[in-house]
Amino acid sequence: MSNSETIFTKIIRREIPADIVYEDDLVLAFRDVAPQAPVHILVIPKKPIPKLEEATPDDHGLMGHLLLKVKQVAQEAGLTNGYRVVINNGFDGGQTVDHLHIHILGGRAMQWPPG
Ligand code: C5P
Repeated sequence: MSNSETIFTKIIRREIPADIVYEDDLVLAFRDVAPQAPVHILVIPKKPIPKLEEATPDDHGLMGHLLLKVKQVAQEAGLTNGYRVVINNGFDGGQTVDHLHIHILGGRAMQWPPG
């Protein structure tokens, strides 16, 4: 087990359950276990990049794929009135799981600024 393994690695491997809404060779999307909005989905790369800051130029294609899949997953979730996309990066960013993930939050009007 490498240092980069987290609970999300276990979700990718189906070692713990998750409500998976999309999967392909590169990414997985599943409903957040503690939703902060009526729709709250996480989209993650299968590659265990710990956080956005640790993505490298080698991840260029993967990052583009990930963001386009965020759009697709949001559409498939029925978020026709808009939604918020969030990446928490590191301690001050509020990141709690050290595996890059993109939050899709929707189904209600969001506030700004975030807390
Ligand atoms: O951005 P941050 O690291 O805080 O987000 C981690 C997210 O992972 C949280 O929203 C948490 O509810 C979610 N989570 C999950 N399933 C788990 C563990 C955490 O959906 N088994």
